[in-house]
Amino acid sequence: MSGVVIIGAGHAGSQLAVSLRAEGYAGAVTLIDASDVLPYHKPPLSKTFLKDPAALPQPLRAASAYDAAGVVRRKGSVTAIDTAAQRVTLDGESLPYGDLVLATGARNRMLPDLLGASNVLSLRDLADAERLRDALAMAHSITVIGGGFIGLESAAALAGMGKSVTVLEAAPRMLARVAAPETSARVEDTLAGLGVKLRLGWTTQNYRRDGDRVTAVLGTTDELSCDLILVGIGAVADTALAQAAGIACNMGILTDAHLQTSAPHVWAIGDVAETPHWQAGAALRVESVQNATDQARHLARILSGAALTPFRTVPWFWSDIGPLKLQIAGLAIGADRRVVRDDGARLAVFHLAGDRLMSVETLNNPADHMIARQVLDSGRTPPDAVMVEGAAAMKAWLAQG
Ligand SMILES: Cc1cc2nc3c(=O)[nH]c(=O)nc-3n(C[C@H](O)[C@H](O)[C@H](O)COP(=O)(O)OP(=O)(O)OC[C@H]3O[C@@H](n4cnc5c(N)ncnc54)[C@H](O)[C@@H]3O)c2cc1C
Repeated sequence: MSGVVIIGAGHAGSQLAVSLRAEGYAGAVTLIDASDVLPYHKPPLSKTFLKDPAALPQPLRAASAYDAAGVVRRKGSVTAIDTAAQRVTLDGESLPYGDLVLATGARNRMLPDLLGASNVLSLRDLADAERLRDALAMAHSITVIGGGFIGLESAAALAGMGKSVTVLEAAPRMLARVAAPETSARVEDTLAGLGVKLRLGWTTQNYRRDGDRVTAVLGTTDELSCDLILVGIGAVADTALAQAAGIACNMGILTDAHLQTSAPHVWAIGDVAETPHWQAGAALRVESVQNATDQARHLARILSGAALTPFRTVPWFWSDIGPLKLQIAGLAIGADRRVVRDDGARLAVFHLAGDRLMSVETLNNPADHMIARQVLDSGRTPPDAVMVEGAAAMKAWLAQG
């Protein structure tokens, strides 16, 4: 019996390894990662980690938790999968598997023009965060390319360190792909209040260089000098290994609703998995800690002998942008109208597709977020007036059944 082999010890892989044992799985569990750092929380890397030169990675769980669960941790890169022979190649060594789980995560998208420049960085893992933190010692003027979550979280953190920060965003507003205009406006105001310069509708024409350094970004009308560039333009799923093994991939590794790939005994979870989504009615890749850990728990039950059931949770996500806690529950896919509750300090935006509530975004409003998750899970939609009243009214409405 060769047990379960997990490739990738991020949020998904680490959770699966310990959940298997918690679910009563009796076989061998091997957790492989290219890094030998104890699996750690990724979210702090763009938030608190940058600000504190002494900060250490925060482990997801102690080393003793893996030992207690009988999980064998192996350092190394898996370079090949033979799905017919049920074996993987780990740094030249061939390992058998009973079931194989691909939890290889995602890689940062990069701008081809900036590849190889010594002062252009991105943020995906601990090594990136350490490189960025070291580079900050010699950098005052920082240009962030991309107004998404990681770019804006980092911009707020860097401004808090006294850096001169400019964010370049091609869209007419920050977070345009993922949040409502009301949310974007509040985020933009807050960042401006922190001293972050926001350039919306930005088009880069060229870069000025000095040796292997980029010293300025040239726009259509002006030129922005910088000591350091942080690129935050999204991520692509790490599908190379699966593709080379002939496993079906699209934007991620394709799975069915039970997280099984096109190859027998091969599964995919976390950022890398593209899975049919009950709310979207289509296959999606979701990048969040909640998705990674909930898929891991679900798969642990299946691999431990539970009946095959579709993965179904209300997706939720958070982002800390300076003093703002943005929380999103559900997916706004197909939404065509919004209900907004804004009391100045707290914001809630309800996205509806016709009469059906699809998602809820909140700023500094955890009470609305928590109840919104329950409402979305119920599949029911409160009247607009109840949503406008807020958490207590939604809770009472939900209790009425
Ligand atoms: C800076 C940052 C901030 C974030 N903030 C938030 C947040 O505030 N809220 C939120 O919900 N989400 C946040 N996220 C997203 C969240 O961290 C990811 O959704 C989550 O890490 C996905 O977990 P995963 O296990 O699928 O992938 P990962 O955590 O990326 O782990 C994948 C692992 O696979 C390993 N690997 C890949 N290929 C191989 C191979 N061939 N052999 C061996 N090992 C391999 C990699 O080394 C890596 O350790 C953030 C992400 C980043 C980068």
